[in-house]
Amino acid sequence: MALDSIAVVEARQVVKLFNGVEILKGVDLRIESGEVVCLIGPSGSGKSTFLRCINHLEKIDGGSLQVFGEWIGYRQVGDKLHILKESEIVRKRARIGMVFQRFNLFAHMTALENVIEAPMQVKKIPRRQAIEEAKALLDRVGLSHRYDAYPSELSGGQQQRVAIARALAMKPEIMLFDEPTSALDPELVGEVLDVMRNLAQDGMTMVVVTHEMAFAREVCTKVAFMDNGAIIETGTPQSLFSAPAHARTRDFLNRVL
Ligand code: ADP
Ligand code: MG
Repeated sequence: MALDSIAVVEARQVVKLFNGVEILKGVDLRIESGEVVCLIGPSGSGKSTFLRCINHLEKIDGGSLQVFGEWIGYRQVGDKLHILKESEIVRKRARIGMVFQRFNLFAHMTALENVIEAPMQVKKIPRRQAIEEAKALLDRVGLSHRYDAYPSELSGGQQQRVAIARALAMKPEIMLFDEPTSALDPELVGEVLDVMRNLAQDGMTMVVVTHEMAFAREVCTKVAFMDNGAIIETGTPQSLFSAPAHARTRDFLNRVL
């Protein structure tokens, strides 16, 4: 890829404060189209906060963060930055899909209704077309037989696959996953990872916060190790897992591998 091409995500020295405390202390990360980046690191290191910044769920307090070449939280006019209006944030967020640890499905809606909701409400897609596309997505995540099931009738793994289909329904150009399998019973983890692996193989740009090191090793194009509010080290899975450059990365890997 050409050096001057626009990155999907370009984070430079991103700082985020909560109650005056620096939680992100200068995060640097560049993600190109088609990359699958696994973000690993100890609990509390700022992984979720960083993902939330990428998805406009948090405003950054320092550094710069651009997604698809556009500022997060701000609009640039000349050399001035203006805070974005909520409607502009909604428009920008439509290009970004996010899947959380807790599936957050609408409990009173069927799987199909969950998937058609955002395309109809946000993108004003006609119901008929939305249903057609939603069925194709549910088929793709292996739920062709569960269109009409309510979340309470589905296993955790099935609910998470509906959540992935729901995110894909907005036709995002990048998918963010925040520990998507951490809340699942161990026997249900594989079916969700399989869906994510297929998505990666189809060329989706992805950022995956995960403790599934086998998945990171096999699927990711790049692994980023985060500790204490900063990305300490990035590399291919091969290099980072077998020859981590930093002592903190080594210590973490020794604990989890
Ligand atoms: P990770 O996902 O790596 O476990 P988080 O990004 O969730 O880490 O949290 C990083 C730090 O920021 C933690 O110390 C957490 O308590 C703090 N934090 C996260 N969100 C908030 C918030 N909304 N208000 C105050 N502190 C927060
Ligand atoms: Mg987290």
